[in-house]
Amino acid sequence: MTDATSLVDERVQALLADLDPRSTDQVEFRGCQYDLGLAWVHFPEGYGGLGLPPVHQRRIDTALYQAGARGPGVRHFFGLTMAGPTIVTNGDDDLRRRLLRRAFTGEDAWCQLFSEPGAGSDLAGLSTRAVRDGDEWLVSGQKVWNTFAHMADRGMLVARTDPEAPKHKGLTYFALDMHAPGVEVRPLRQITGEAEFNEVYITEVRVPDGDRIGDVGDGWRVAMTTLMNERTTIGGGGGAPPRGSGSIAEAVRIWQEEMTDHDPAVRDRLMRLWIEAEALRLTNIRAGQNRRAGNPGPEGSIAKLKFAEINMAIYELCVDLLGADALVGFDYELRRTEGLGLTGPPGSSRKMFLRARANSIEGGTSEIQRNILGERVLGLPGEPRIDKDLPWSQVPR
Ligand SMILES: Cc1cc2nc3c(=O)[nH]c(=O)nc-3n(C[C@H](O)[C@H](O)[C@H](O)COP(=O)(O)OP(=O)(O)OC[C@H]3O[C@@H](n4cnc5c(N)ncnc54)[C@H](O)[C@@H]3O)c2cc1C
Repeated sequence: MTDATSLVDERVQALLADLDPRSTDQVEFRGCQYDLGLAWVHFPEGYGGLGLPPVHQRRIDTALYQAGARGPGVRHFFGLTMAGPTIVTNGDDDLRRRLLRRAFTGEDAWCQLFSEPGAGSDLAGLSTRAVRDGDEWLVSGQKVWNTFAHMADRGMLVARTDPEAPKHKGLTYFALDMHAPGVEVRPLRQITGEAEFNEVYITEVRVPDGDRIGDVGDGWRVAMTTLMNERTTIGGGGGAPPRGSGSIAEAVRIWQEEMTDHDPAVRDRLMRLWIEAEALRLTNIRAGQNRRAGNPGPEGSIAKLKFAEINMAIYELCVDLLGADALVGFDYELRRTEGLGLTGPPGSSRKMFLRARANSIEGGTSEIQRNILGERVLGLPGEPRIDKDLPWSQVPR
């Protein structure tokens, strides 16, 4: 057993000796987990980590889960997977102290305020303006497709602070207080009937300069930390799910439990998808073990791209297997989603087939992932970008 493993085990034992996860309030338990450096184990000591390779997190999470700790809920999702890594990498000590612990405990739920009606794939072209006013910034603009913004306390906001700079250079990143006057969140209904995401109107909202993450004009680089972590998380690279779990488990269940006619050609289709899902799972585990420290790199786009393709193909197979049954037992009620699942529980294929349509769009489209892989991993020539060096204010829109 290495020194690092012994340290992790000692800390886990200390936590469990102090608090029983089955009877302790979630905020208290997770707060203590953070203080012992077991929240994001690869973060520096004093900020929820022990400065160890991220691979140790799995050992911690497994031990706590076996002792009865609940998994992180939806309130933790954006804070845990995106805001935390962004703040620890780019924020100053004051921001790290104020925001990281609360993000981990779920006291602050986070959302991501990147996309706009005129800026999705071309995120650097966004128009939300932030104008300096003493120790504050006055922010106005509209964001869209913001998952869970209706439950969020903080938003990862990218805004334009210098319209005369080229588009990638005039952006700045803020931790927006979602309860500030001038922030309005409106539901957007999806193909499933649910309103998982929102549009967010920001009208002359005052943001303290102390809530700026990174330097003025450095928002693009800071946003990359968020996006690399997002792609890896969506692709399944953040953990190691058991073999045969997720959407492929549902396809196998339907095949075994709900089908009487076992056509060999359909079994072949099922097997091919099972193998692809397993290859992706193993690729993600290998990528996670190779990551010694820090944030995921552009190779996270492999996980994101393949996950989208495989998950969509699996749910398509599920509804094909169900045949006419796939057309019934599903309503189109408007609901505010309480959980975030890119794969669903048994029996949810009808809904998940529709939800999976978003997999190739959310977190950056499949075309954009291919561009990233082509340019940044394979070193192929870049796309022509004619507006790259023009002042943003002169780019035709
Ligand atoms: C379920 C869901 C949840 C989301 N949650 C959030 C969230 O919480 N926060 C947030 O900020 N955003 C969120 N988004 C928005 C998401 O990031 C954007 O939808 C996505 O980046 C695409 O942008 P767009 O919709 O403007 O499409 P566009 O950028 O207009 O793209 C349209 C089409 O053109 C293609 N295209 C565009 N540029 C290129 C190019 N250079 N090369 C090749 N093809 C190209 C695209 O691939 C796509 O097929 C979410 C989206 C979905 C579906």
